[in-house]
Amino acid sequence: MADSRALAVLKDKFGYDSFRRGQDQVIERVLNGENTLAVMPTGGGKSLCYQIPALLEPGLTLVVSPLIALMKDQVDALNENGIAATFINSSLDYQEINHRLSMAALGEVKLLYVAPERFDAPGFIDELSRLNISILAVDEAHCISHWGHDFRPSYLHLSDVAAQLQSHPTVIALTATATKKVATDICERLDIPDGGFVSTGFARPNLTFNVIKDQDKDTYLLEYLKLNANQAGIIYASTIKEVDHVAALLASKHYPVTKYNGQMSSTERNQNQEDFLFDRKPIMVATNAFGMGIDKSNVRFVIHYQVPSDLESYYQEAGRAGRDGLPSDAILLYKANDIRTQLFFIENSDADEDHKAEQYRKLNKMKQYANTGDCLQQFILNYFGQTGTAPCGRCSNCLDDRDYQDITLDAQKVLSCIIRLRSGWGKGMLTKVLAGARDKKLLECNFDKLSTYGLLSSYRQKDIGSLIDFLTAEDYIQVGNGKFTTLGVSEKGGNVLRGKETVRRKMAAKAKQSLPVDD
Ligand code: ADP
Ligand code: ZN
Repeated sequence: MADSRALAVLKDKFGYDSFRRGQDQVIERVLNGENTLAVMPTGGGKSLCYQIPALLEPGLTLVVSPLIALMKDQVDALNENGIAATFINSSLDYQEINHRLSMAALGEVKLLYVAPERFDAPGFIDELSRLNISILAVDEAHCISHWGHDFRPSYLHLSDVAAQLQSHPTVIALTATATKKVATDICERLDIPDGGFVSTGFARPNLTFNVIKDQDKDTYLLEYLKLNANQAGIIYASTIKEVDHVAALLASKHYPVTKYNGQMSSTERNQNQEDFLFDRKPIMVATNAFGMGIDKSNVRFVIHYQVPSDLESYYQEAGRAGRDGLPSDAILLYKANDIRTQLFFIENSDADEDHKAEQYRKLNKMKQYANTGDCLQQFILNYFGQTGTAPCGRCSNCLDDRDYQDITLDAQKVLSCIIRLRSGWGKGMLTKVLAGARDKKLLECNFDKLSTYGLLSSYRQKDIGSLIDFLTAEDYIQVGNGKFTTLGVSEKGGNVLRGKETVRRKMAAKAKQSLPVDD
């Protein structure tokens, strides 16, 4: 039930008639002084969940947000609605910061936005204790977890903030991406009780997810843009070099394109970002440095030119499409080889071994997403722990109108070959053995003597690889953790080998895999 005061503020201050799903529940908890974690998809309306209580509580609401670039806009928008809000971050000098803090101490401000880095300075928490803080709002709360995809050490101080402030503020944490592990972490660190988790689910019913596999990416991109001329969109590539390549390609075809990466000067970045935001150049080609907190509502497509590191990043980046609720596309252009770039990033990161193992695990999930035959939206929801949903009916897998073929026999060949290889090898060797390749290493190991050698020799190696990826995505094959992913047979795969389970895959009936032409 919506608190009648909350509803009045929604109407009077924000001009909306009714709450969106979950908003009233979250607001009511916060007004009752109960610590809460709100999980809502991008565009779901998280901001109002703390802005409305902020106006109804006597003291100050402290909003911690990593989106420094956005703070000013957010505050301006609130001011325009007649709400006393301000921010402090590194763009301001010492005097101005002090001035703003004093205003807050005098009760002249209802919402104070701060960047998490503020808390790295010893003494900042003491300064805050001069303020009567009623609510501590933690935006992008997944940044507090080591297991999230965007961990920020500064966020760890927030545990102390909540505990040390005399005013005992109510904590509201907000995020659009949290696996179970991350959500648990957030709740522990911010003292949110078991019942304090409010989730409206992660689904984005206006997004159409597509995986485009093994096609020439540039050709696809140009075809897509031809059909979607004049739309705003973001194209993500994984390296600066690829960003330059794609941006140059589109510029050569006279598309209004701009680009963004972390190495550009801040002047250039700001300029390009604005060109994009104000639709002067509505196509943005960028690395993942772009987009955190970008609130452009009319983004009609987000295309990943390469596979990102994990599904959380993917969903967050893809989720920048369609914030206005209108139909939009989320497209992943996938080539198995692209995984190498991500492997390289993980290998060369300075994370410890545990975290590297976690990264490899996440990358494997990303790979599964690219290769699954199941509903893509459902796959993502399952990843975030939301089960029992129906297929979306819109994604490229749901719309794949090819018939299911029974591929049990081929699957059995692959699985038994894994067992012959004693689960000690990866996809590369498995493919070669099944194809009957005369590979040096293979011959050295005497794998040409295995009974499974050459069992799929009528298929192209590429198609054998794709079959292995499919069986992995569907959990018939288990992937070992680590850089050199060795393959094993899962329990489900065991059932297939014992003839207790059949395997079906959507594909064209005749050229099952690509059989030789003389059939
Ligand atoms: P999030 O932070 O969850 O991505 P925002 O808080 O930025 O989403 O809200 C997304 C958009 O939805 C904003 O333009 C906001 O004004 C609008 N909005 C939020 N709540 C409501 C509501 N109850 N009714 C109508 N529009 C809303
Ligand atoms: Zn679907």
